[in-house]
This record gives sequence, structure tokens and C-alpha cells, in this order.
Amino acid sequence: MSFKENIPVALKTVHAEIGEAAKAAERNVKDVTLVAVGKTFEAEHMVPALDAGQRVFGENRVQEADGKWPGLREIYPDIELHLIGPLQTNKIKQALEIFDVIQTIDRPKLAQKLAKELAGVDKIPACFIQVNTGEEPQKAGILPSDADDFIQMCVKDLKLPIVGLMCIPPVDQEPSLHFALLQKIAKRNGLAKLSMGMSADYDVAVEFGATHVRVGSAIFGKRDYPPA
Ligand SMILES: *Cc1c(COP(=O)(O)O)cnc(C)c1O
Repeated sequence: MSFKENIPVALKTVHAEIGEAAKAAERNVKDVTLVAVGKTFEAEHMVPALDAGQRVFGENRVQEADGKWPGLREIYPDIELHLIGPLQTNKIKQALEIFDVIQTIDRPKLAQKLAKELAGVDKIPACFIQVNTGEEPQKAGILPSDADDFIQMCVKDLKLPIVGLMCIPPVDQEPSLHFALLQKIAKRNGLAKLSMGMSADYDVAVEFGATHVRVGSAIFGKRDYPPA
């Protein structure tokens, strides 16, 4: 089978598993949004997902998204695009043109520059703060111990449209510990949305209250080259 047949089938399977996990957790499946992560795949791979009704997508890189999505948006204007990779401050302007949601607010300098840029634009993206729940030095995200202060600064001082938190647990650890921690930090800061769970663990994330799961390879297949 080619990707044209595979992708709709895989998408159906992922939706079914989200449904089961939501049911098991006594949650409404409508409260879980599937963010289909298209990184490293070409626009032609997005089309079968779009034709199957998928509208919410995630990309890691501003540049890659810029090459892929403006053309697709002309055909499917109701797409919602999420930035799920690190955002450099010199790419904020470009990111604001392409993305509807920015999931990776992860440091004061970015938050401050973003707040400045937002003062001059009409289209305001919903934002998530990325928390480095595993405290991994190579990973982006605010440390859990700094999270409360950073969240309050973003919301109260900078008036950023923060809707929730996002995390990427360490690959070699039980993800549920990280999902529970993210849920706890969000709750005590009054944030409703949780972006957590990827192909290997999105069902667990739903159990722990994920409102957004970011699923790539389970939909589009194995990536040929690392996203770097
Ligand atoms: C690549 C990526 C995903 C999707 O990963 P899969 O394991 O392919 O589902 C989710 N979130 C982020 C931040 C990613 O970079």
C-alpha cells in the first residue's frame, strides 16, 4: 500500500485509540485534539490526512512549515497549524504569519519579544508554555521549579494569550510521571490545556488529561531522516 492509502487508515486507528483512552478515563473525546505532526514529510503526504478530514497539524520548524503549508492553506483554508519546535527570536515574525498556535514558549527573552511583536499584529496565536519536566540540559522548556514564576510573568505582565502547557518527556522514562507533573503545574496556575503525548504514549497522556496529543510517525510512518 502507498502512503495515500496508509495515512487515512492510520489516522482512523489513532482516533479510535484516543476514543478508547478517553472512554477509559471517563473523559469526553471531544476534549482531546489530535495534532498531526507532519515534520519531514512533504505536502503531498499531508493531502491524504486533509482529505480524511484532519485539520490540526504540527510542525517543528518555521522554515519547513513555510515551504509546506501556505499552498495547502489555499486549498484547505480551515487548517490550524501549531508550532511544536523551538522558536528563535529572529523567526517570531515569520512564525506569526504561518502558525495559529505556538506551543513552545520556553524562556523569558522569547516571551518578551513575542509580546512586543503581538502588539502590532491582528492575528493572535494561542500559546502554550513548554516545560522541561525531565530537566534535560539538551531540551528546551522552562524548568519545573521556574514554571510558576514564568507562567505568571507571561500571563500577568506580558499579557500573552497563554492557554496551557506542553512537555516532551525524556525518552527513557515512564511518561506518566511527566504527564502528571505537567497537569499539576497547569492546575495550580489555572491553565486548562495540556499538550502531551506522542506516537508511543498518547493513550497514557489522554488518561492524564491531555487536551492535545501530538502524533507524527503513527500517522505518517517512520521518518527517514532525523528532524535535528
Ligand atoms: C516529532 C514530534 C512529535 C511527534 O512524534 P512521534 O513520535 O512521531 O509521534 C511530537 N511532538 C514534538 C515536539 C515533536 O518534535
